[in-house]
Amino acid sequence: MDGSTDAPVADYTNEPAPPRRSGFGLPINVNLEITDLCNIKCRMCGQAYNPKVHNLQPNSFMKFEVWKASIDALADYEDEITLCPHWLGEPCLHPEFDRFLRYAFDHNEGNRLFRYFKLHTNGSLLSEDRIETILDCANRDNMAPDTFRFVHFSVDAYTPAVYYRIKKYDYGERVYRNIVTLLERREARGAKWPLVTNAFIVMPENQHEAEWYLNYWTRIFDRLSLPFDVVYDWPQHLRDNLYFRRLHQADQPAADRLHRHVLDRLGLLGLDANGTWIEESF
Ligand code: SF4
Repeated sequence: MDGSTDAPVADYTNEPAPPRRSGFGLPINVNLEITDLCNIKCRMCGQAYNPKVHNLQPNSFMKFEVWKASIDALADYEDEITLCPHWLGEPCLHPEFDRFLRYAFDHNEGNRLFRYFKLHTNGSLLSEDRIETILDCANRDNMAPDTFRFVHFSVDAYTPAVYYRIKKYDYGERVYRNIVTLLERREARGAKWPLVTNAFIVMPENQHEAEWYLNYWTRIFDRLSLPFDVVYDWPQHLRDNLYFRRLHQADQPAADRLHRHVLDRLGLLGLDANGTWIEESF
């Protein structure tokens, strides 16, 4: 006996690897942070207190080859993937942001790589060309229409003076102009995507501007005949929205009290109401 058998030996060498799963059967959020740098310093963000926000691998831009390999590898997963190009940095600061974005969407036909894409930005670095890139990527006819669902803008102020006080840079007017341009260009194309979240984190420095903020953006959305929501928790509907957000800080009860007073003033949620809190973006 030499130990051999007549049973066929499986040969997997020419077969594609089976799709990988997260093991949880849940949608996956993939944050590919293309830079840990930011061009402003919001007082409620680690960027304001630590020049090396992660302490590790600080102050760098992801190489295109790394982005490409990471994006390509998403094809191996059959879970529903939401892709975000940020974590603690400002993604639009990356000098190759537009190239990165186009690569991801150029290779996502049929949503083979990711089902959803979300961009969080402070909005200060949206040139007209970049706005066109975003609109091009968000309105492809070879993937699900709502793939590029939202751009979340961290605005947090109405007047330039308060913007400067909170963020230490005088970009307030530019941010407003960029968001309005994105909305106008989207409308001029007759396009729906991406939807816009204009976020306002309620804090002592800006709480007196909440009504002005609400009124300004209401006028903009009305001028463009855009339906919109005003929300106090993460948006849960596919509509442009204004998001009066809770500040997270060491003295959380004080931040929550101020938030509730502002919501009450704006007529969004009375002080005695329970409200509905999901605190989860989609
Ligand atoms: S824009 Fe975002 S990343 Fe930059 S400092 Fe503000 S919160 Fe932090």
